[in-house]
Amino acid sequence: MEWNKPLPQPTPLSQPYWDGLRQRRVRLQRCGDCEHWIFFPRAHCPSCGSHKLAWHDVSGEGTLYTWTAARVPTLPEFGDEMPQLLAVVELDEGPRMNTTLVGVQPEGLQTGLRVRPVFDERPGSVTLLRYTSADSTHPSVIEAGQRPEAGPVANEPAAPARRIDVKDLAGLQGLVSEAFSGWSSEVEVTQELIDRFAELSGDDYWIHTDPVKARAQSPFGTTIAHGALVQVLASRMRIPMDWEIVGYTNMVNYGSDRLRFPAPVTSGSRIHARSRVKAVQQVKSGVQLTLEIHTHIVGHDRPSVINDLVVLYM
Ligand SMILES: [Zn+2]
Repeated sequence: MEWNKPLPQPTPLSQPYWDGLRQRRVRLQRCGDCEHWIFFPRAHCPSCGSHKLAWHDVSGEGTLYTWTAARVPTLPEFGDEMPQLLAVVELDEGPRMNTTLVGVQPEGLQTGLRVRPVFDERPGSVTLLRYTSADSTHPSVIEAGQRPEAGPVANEPAAPARRIDVKDLAGLQGLVSEAFSGWSSEVEVTQELIDRFAELSGDDYWIHTDPVKARAQSPFGTTIAHGALVQVLASRMRIPMDWEIVGYTNMVNYGSDRLRFPAPVTSGSRIHARSRVKAVQQVKSGVQLTLEIHTHIVGHDRPSVINDLVVLYM
């Protein structure tokens, strides 16, 4: 899995802290004169001004000082981990640090909660220090390639409950509904997938394919998938439907009555879809069924693709 989120840039002063995290150790500076513990890394003691600072290993454990649940991503790249549990942890040595919580539900949080470190190794170049509650079963290391924060379990496609013959127009029209289906299985939109689509389509515009330039210049802060790619990925998802049409000899994709891309899908996002039958119409060559498909980034209210797909049954 490609890490598409902003990362810390170690400086000569902070490098020992980041090196410690890579070894799954939490390290803090302490003043050799007044014994004050220090975070963030500095050149002098904020308590007495001394320059006699040294690095020491600490447990990394502490208590939850304050927290909030961000239900709108703080940056588009964080759309796959909603809500973001932004927190300040007070270490047992005294210093407070900004972090994010994993493996906990926002409803179960309260200030003063005992917390322990979680080393997130997924970014590769650096290890991030995150936190979970002391009594959580969450592993203390998130290894690259692991996905411990998988979203809600995808709905298994329900066995078709209703079989409707294509000649039963009234029965087909009974499928028309304002209500959407349950969510489909999820698909991850990786940079590799975007690159392959760019090659296939010939649309290799940098907002899709150049993560470095996109980070610097794109309003989204990272690369985004082609709308057309997100549209066709609906074919990879199993949207649960409680009906099945039978008795036809041929079924073709007749195109779209409406196709919109209201929100971008940033590289690395997980997406899923749901649908409803919008219209059923008898036409000369058969029956036309319009399926309104909405594809969303998991956890986002706003759809990334709205597709009124017309299927012709002959
Ligand atoms: Zn000091």
